[in-house]
Amino acid sequence: MASRVLRIGLIPGDGIGKEVIPAGRRLLEALPSSLGLKFDFVDLHAGFETFEKTGAALPDKTVEVLKNECDGALFGAVSSPSTAVKGYSSPIVALRKKLDLYANVRPVKTVVTAPKPIDMVIVRENTEDLYVKDERTFDAADGSGKVAEAIKRISEKASFRIATMAGDIALRREKIRAAGAPSIHKSPLVTITHKSNVLSQTDGLFRSTSRRALAAEQFAGKLEVEEQIVDSMVYKLFRQPEAYDVIVAPNLYGDILSDGAAALVGSLGLVPSANVGEGFAIGEPCHGSAPDIMGMGIANPIATLRSTALMLEFLGAEEAAAKIYAAVDGNLSEGKLLSPDLGGTAKTEEVVQDILKRL
Ligand code: ATP
Ligand code: MG
Repeated sequence: MASRVLRIGLIPGDGIGKEVIPAGRRLLEALPSSLGLKFDFVDLHAGFETFEKTGAALPDKTVEVLKNECDGALFGAVSSPSTAVKGYSSPIVALRKKLDLYANVRPVKTVVTAPKPIDMVIVRENTEDLYVKDERTFDAADGSGKVAEAIKRISEKASFRIATMAGDIALRREKIRAAGAPSIHKSPLVTITHKSNVLSQTDGLFRSTSRRALAAEQFAGKLEVEEQIVDSMVYKLFRQPEAYDVIVAPNLYGDILSDGAAALVGSLGLVPSANVGEGFAIGEPCHGSAPDIMGMGIANPIATLRSTALMLEFLGAEEAAAKIYAAVDGNLSEGKLLSPDLGGTAKTEEVVQDILKRL
């Protein structure tokens, strides 16, 4: 069988990004050849260090190579300076815009680290809602002081494509479970999150469009769909996290829910994400550059390894992703080689080697 060759851009960025992204590369190289995948890597730059060296946090070359040559990418982390630095802004935010990566996908899963089992994925719309940043400030007509307001924009187009992606992910998760990645869920469920009891037009449109997208033929009879108002969702997310499989949310609620959910699993070092557009995905661990542990060789590589698997899912390599998830879960459930953030003493390198061995 001819191998499929995937070209992957590697953007380590700053801090522990440089320690964990190489682990993602080694993971891809270690995948069994029976999967029919080959990888080709291209080293790319972005981040604060790149900004200090070149004056650009996201060099044009990085964008062009990703756009024109790559199938996917891995992005480490970038440092955010504590005070605003003139000319510097987040390269990942710029990349999402330039490559139209309209979805932010964040799986949150525990194996042994929390009081309750958790295995959910939050699918966050990433292009609109309050984050269109259309704000203004003016004087109140009655002279009582200033008033500030912001536009919350919800479109049918963006709502439809994000809900469709959530449905696709729910069905794919079922396939990945079938391919041997352990899970607490038996059948696919999508929860639509909104506040349409108050915001009947904006969230109302998100809700009705998501419903319509998830009622499409490709999902008929294969998917359970429910809705939840965002405030009661937060309550239930903390009380009963095991109830959720796939959650789809507009940008702001998705932002808040995904950080809240990440807090449930005990370490940022476990939580992956992907920024996804049409035919392109960037895997990105949720954590930042972690300057406090940088250079100590103890960063937990699991968020990056899971992000690598997640990127593969979106590139149609589900079987490879399932193998990686199972290897990571094996490491966590055995619990012998855990990094310090999980209460262990293992170095990054030992965790990586254990997981590669399990592949
Ligand atoms: P940044 O400005 O880049 O976001 P930060 O100081 O906010 O940096 P984070 O990377 O967000 O740091 O991490 C928050 C905390 O979680 C830190 O104490 C960090 O050491 C820890 N942490 C983050 N990622 C990991 C990891 N992969 N392994 C172990 N600990 C981690
Ligand atoms: Mg941070």
